[in-house]
Amino acid sequence: MAYKINTKKCLKCGLCVTQCPEEAVVVDDKVTESDGLVLYTTRIDPDKCTDCGVCFSHEWWCPAKAIVKA
Ligand code: SF4
Ligand code: SF4
Repeated sequence: MAYKINTKKCLKCGLCVTQCPEEAVVVDDKVTESDGLVLYTTRIDPDKCTDCGVCFSHEWWCPAKAIVKA
């Protein structure tokens, strides 16, 4: 089992970066919009991810439900 981020659904909120217990979510890009909103382009590092499933199982974890089983 592995997990990945569906970039078409991802809101780029960055919440997953702070929530993963293994720090497996890495930020590939960080953009600050003119209104101050910060957008994070994230992905799950398969070498760090332990497939614990927390990010997938809890609906509150990702507001966009963009984390999927790979
Ligand atoms: S928590 Fe979900 S919507 Fe937010 S950056 Fe992570 S994958 Fe994207
Ligand atoms: S499955 Fe677990 S270790 Fe992997 S990205 Fe999700 S919360 Fe992090």
